[in-house]
Amino acid sequence: MKRIICLTTVLAVSFAASAQQFVIGGTKDDRTQAMQPGMTEYYYPKVPVVTPGDIKTNSAPSDAIVLFDGKDLSAWTGENGNEAKWKVNGDGTMTVNKESGGITTKESFGDCQLHLEWCVPVGIHGSGQAKGNSGIFIQGRYEVQVLDSYNNETYSNGQAASIYKQSAPLANPTRPEGEWNVYDIIYKAPTFKEDGTYRTKPQITVLFNGVLVQDNTIIVGTTEYVGLPQVAPHGDAPISLQSHGDPSEPISFRNIWIRKL
Ligand code: MG
Repeated sequence: MKRIICLTTVLAVSFAASAQQFVIGGTKDDRTQAMQPGMTEYYYPKVPVVTPGDIKTNSAPSDAIVLFDGKDLSAWTGENGNEAKWKVNGDGTMTVNKESGGITTKESFGDCQLHLEWCVPVGIHGSGQAKGNSGIFIQGRYEVQVLDSYNNETYSNGQAASIYKQSAPLANPTRPEGEWNVYDIIYKAPTFKEDGTYRTKPQITVLFNGVLVQDNTIIVGTTEYVGLPQVAPHGDAPISLQSHGDPSEPISFRNIWIRKL
């Protein structure tokens, strides 16, 4: 019975997520306002765990825009356009500053190939969504989840490399705390009709530690914590990294570069 209920939930969410008519012009309607976080979370099917191969990193190719090379945050701003205040560690890495909020690229992007590496600190505390939570907001609104998903249960469409609350990853190759995880993202930006709805929806492919986890996935709108995906017209936009409010120890990033496509 539980499986039937869960499948029903998955189908309901899938239907809701594909029903673009719920979200005209970016205004949340009454049905979304009345929703609770759990209404867009599903736990089945579970994502299979895969042990990744030895792919660790790769440095920027010659035509890439380097967003973080370990030296400074000159490509980024902090909240409200202020200076980015995440900690640059001197070993090629930077660490989330949970007091100062997220950071955002100064440059805007559309179609792109994005490389990024992240690491959860050894001895991190917490569980579920409150353990190493961060995220990459493509065009400022579509989150590729970052989370310590090594032996850490949460909803399938909220674990590492999910398109948050929309699409669970095809596999879970998350490395344990203290080891570096690698995301390679290929993103196709949406186009819009004159009425503000998608003409072509955003599409995303994600390789996670060398394992395909999002296979040309269609994104149906913004990745909301509460409620249904929203659609509002936008052009090229910056990429943001999330400073999540959970109390777990902050995670680190390194080697971030992007190629415009
Ligand atoms: Mg997140």
